[in-house]
Parts: sequence; C-alpha cells; structure tokens
Amino acid sequence: MITKEEIREYIIGLGLCSVGFTHPMPFDRLEKVLKERQQLGYLSGFEKGTVEERCRPETHLGWVRSIIAVALPYTLYYNIQSTGIKGSISGSAVGEDYHRLLGSKLEQAAQYISKRVQGFRYAVMADTGPLVDREIAYRSGIGWYGKNCSIITPISGSRVFLGELLTNLDLEPDNLLEDHCGGCTCCIDNCPTGALTEPYTLDARKCISYLTQQRGVIPRELRAKMETSIYGCDRCLLCCPHNSSGIGSGGLTSVDLMELVNMDRHEFDSRYKQSALGWRGLNVIKRNAVIALGNLGLQEGLNALAAALRHPSPVIRGHSAWAVGRIGGGRARDMLIKSLTHEKDRYVRGEIEAALEELAQN
Ligand code: SF4
Ligand code: SF4
Repeated sequence: MITKEEIREYIIGLGLCSVGFTHPMPFDRLEKVLKERQQLGYLSGFEKGTVEERCRPETHLGWVRSIIAVALPYTLYYNIQSTGIKGSISGSAVGEDYHRLLGSKLEQAAQYISKRVQGFRYAVMADTGPLVDREIAYRSGIGWYGKNCSIITPISGSRVFLGELLTNLDLEPDNLLEDHCGGCTCCIDNCPTGALTEPYTLDARKCISYLTQQRGVIPRELRAKMETSIYGCDRCLLCCPHNSSGIGSGGLTSVDLMELVNMDRHEFDSRYKQSALGWRGLNVIKRNAVIALGNLGLQEGLNALAAALRHPSPVIRGHSAWAVGRIGGGRARDMLIKSLTHEKDRYVRGEIEAALEELAQN
C-alpha cells in the first residue's frame, strides 16, 4: 500500500514543484475544444494522434486506474551564456531536453512505487504520447488554464514542464483549481502575432513558439514579428503576473547569432545535442538565427549572411536572402544580385527577387 501523500512527498523531493491526481475517464471538455480548433484550422501540426486518441486514455491503456500529473520548473536548469549579437532562447529550451529529464524523474517515481506496491503497472509520458499533458495537469488540480492557454501552477507559474505517470493504482482524484486570471489581459495584449485570438484560444499557426520549432519556410508576413526568437517566444509568459516570483521566474536567455549562423554540425552537436535545440536540429535553429539577424538590421550581420547565402539548404538560403534585404544598403543589394546570378532553386530565386524588389522600393 502507498498513500497519495507519500507519492507526492517523494516526487517533490525529486525537484518537481507540483503533483496532482486524476482518473482516466475521457477528456470530454477537451475533445469538444480540440474539434472546434481543428475546424478553425488552429492546430499546429505537432499533435500526435487523432483528437479522439488524444482525449481517451482507455483507448491506449485499458488497465489505467489513475493518473499522477507532475510539473517541473524551467529555471533549475539554466546554463547557456553568450556574448556578441544575441538571439533569445525560451527557458523551456535551456539545459537538458526536458523529455529526457522529466521522463527519468517519472521513472524514478515509478521505481519508488514499485517497491511498495506488488503488481504495480505504469506508463511514463512527458509529451511522448498522444494524451494532452495540459488537460491532465488541469484535471489533476496542478494548475488552471490561463488566458494564454498555458497551465499556471500556484508555485512556479506557467514556466513548467508537464508530464504524467499512468498507473493501475486506485487513487482519489484531486480537485480542480480556480482560474485566477481575473480581469487581466496582459498576455493577449503582448502577443506580437495575434495568435491568442481570444481568451483561452490559440491559433498555433501564428504562434512564434511553434514557428521557431517548425521545419521549412516561415510565412514572410510573420518573420519580422519573430524579432530575435531562436527557440520559443515566451512573451505571453514573461508578462504574466503569476510568473513574477518563485521558482520558474527567470527570463529568456540568449545565444550568439553570428556563431550560430556559422556553426557546423559537429560544433552544434557537441554544444546542444542534449538540449531542445539539439532535438530541433541545426538547420531549423540556423534558419531562425538568420531571420533574427535580418530583424536586428545590423550591417555586420551581412558577414555571416554572406556564407548563409551559399548554404546547401534552400530554406536557409531563402531566409538569408530575406534577411539581407531587410538589413538593406548597397552591400546587401550587391550580395543579392550576385546570388541571383548563380542560384538555381526556384523558391530561393523568388526570395532573392522579392528582397531586391523591397530594397528598390525603400
Ligand atoms: S508564445 Fe508568443 S506568439 Fe505564441 S501566444 Fe505567446 S506571445 Fe503569442
Ligand atoms: S497574463 Fe494575465 S490573463 Fe494572461 S495568463 Fe497571466 S494572469 Fe491570465
């Protein structure tokens, strides 16, 4: 036998800030919300499984009797420092990749319970299965949904990683927490792209956090709004009054943009392989660094972009052309004209021509 309080105490001792308990009944409220968002085209494309699979735990693991939800604060693991021209990294991406970190803490918790309960069965999830971590956290009483669509925990605000242990234990569910957003609309007012279309509703296609993680071409009209974001955005978290104190209250951290744009795979892997940046991959991060250089508009950024215009990836060459055009000036114009003479890729040629056209108009 083991009690909820013993489990809670053990997990908090592992460095997590919140623990809650819920049952595995279907997530009917979420299913309705996700279907509405799907119809509006607001989903990000990162989702795993169908809406039904994401909302019905029993379709994956019929033996589950209870779910233990946990939250781990970001800032315990900050360790990136940088000099030079800087891009910003969300606290969620600093340090060891949280899927691995939180997964190993949940595994430790499961081993602890295994020693106390015969026939204990479990499954660890930390953004690694189709179930929606935020809804599980909400229903477990770990936090409430803020108007920015994040789960806000009483101790660490919304800068937390969420995960859960699905178990065959019979444990009493915890109560829901009350919403404490009140009349505040700070997150909506500070969202640069209008991705928070109304309170509690996110259009993921416009969210900079998702854009920085997506592969491929970023829509031209959203690039300037990314400013210097390399991974994540956090503007709707940084302004939230519930993130102003306590564990998880650190801000964005930074990386050297020129260094990133020039970085080869060997160097990238040796620095970032264990982190979320490494998980996302060099070319996506490099594309974001190129956009950030364009948004800073500094002539010295052209030194790094000259090499990026010859990069083997058309996506990086295309975004570099956009960035060079955005920086502007005589040298930028010469670089674009020279690139156009040898560029064969149709998409990249389109980017170069668009950049030259914009330069001509300014
Ligand atoms: S992460 Fe940035 S873009 Fe996304 S909702 Fe928050 S403020 Fe808006
Ligand atoms: S910024 Fe204000 S409205 Fe948005 S989640 Fe935080 S408290 Fe709620």
